[in-house]
Amino acid sequence: MSLPPTVVTLTGTGVPLPSPGRAGPGTLVRYADLALQFDAGRATVLRLTEADTPPHALTALFVTHVHSDHVVDLADVALTRWIFQQLHPTGGLVVVAPEGSAARFVRRMLEAFDDDVALRIAHVQPDPPQVDLQTFDAPAEPVRVWQSDDGALTVDAVVVHHEPVTGAVAYRVTTPTGVVVISGDTRVCDEVERLSAGADVLVHEACRTTAMRDAIAGTSFEKIFSYHADTVPLGAMAERAGVSHLLLTHLIPPPNDQAEADAFAVDVRDAGYRGRVTVGEDLTTVSVTRSRG
Ligand SMILES: [Zn+2]
Ligand SMILES: [Zn+2]
Repeated sequence: MSLPPTVVTLTGTGVPLPSPGRAGPGTLVRYADLALQFDAGRATVLRLTEADTPPHALTALFVTHVHSDHVVDLADVALTRWIFQQLHPTGGLVVVAPEGSAARFVRRMLEAFDDDVALRIAHVQPDPPQVDLQTFDAPAEPVRVWQSDDGALTVDAVVVHHEPVTGAVAYRVTTPTGVVVISGDTRVCDEVERLSAGADVLVHEACRTTAMRDAIAGTSFEKIFSYHADTVPLGAMAERAGVSHLLLTHLIPPPNDQAEADAFAVDVRDAGYRGRVTVGEDLTTVSVTRSRG
């Protein structure tokens, strides 16, 4: 009997600066009827729907950290799931987040909708929206933060280096047919390298710091780029970790054409990465069917 593939879809490859065709950051990992979403940037609900996995179909949603670009659509995911409960009674939204700013954000994100929630309850909804927040302390070494009811899918988390944001994490999803790591936002770091050892797919943020060094010198971008992943050391890291497929997302600067997109791949290749590399676009989908044992 063949097992279903592990399917990775980018629901957004953008950054805070709006770019045509690029929703805010997010990655969807599906295995059989389980669907795990990582972050919920701008327009995530639309991309999830385009990926045939609307909010009510999510099994759980994981937050990497609070920068607005990663969480700005989280309330929309929760509210849309809620509104559709009468058609699709899948229950509250499970949100897994590190304790600290991420958990605080999730606890407060629906407050501004109090009046709307009251109005909908008075009108048609039987209950208020439910968010089942499950928190953990961002760990220095990977720890299990979630598993499916049958234990077939597991998610581990480890702290990354996105200072001045503290408590940002990366996640590792293990299914019977694949291992997928989602970096969240981070400089290239040992923690993600260890988490990615032998991964089938590493979804990693990418910033062309080396290529743009002279252009950003002395500007505020120099500071911003310092806490993102320079594509050159990223390529070397992915090679050391033995990653099969490097899927680049959260692209800085957002590519305007194919040549600008290709430059990200050239950076990681020049740094020695020999696996498969894809410069992500919204709804880029990668399927993994590795048999494990
Ligand atoms: Zn960030
Ligand atoms: Zn970001």
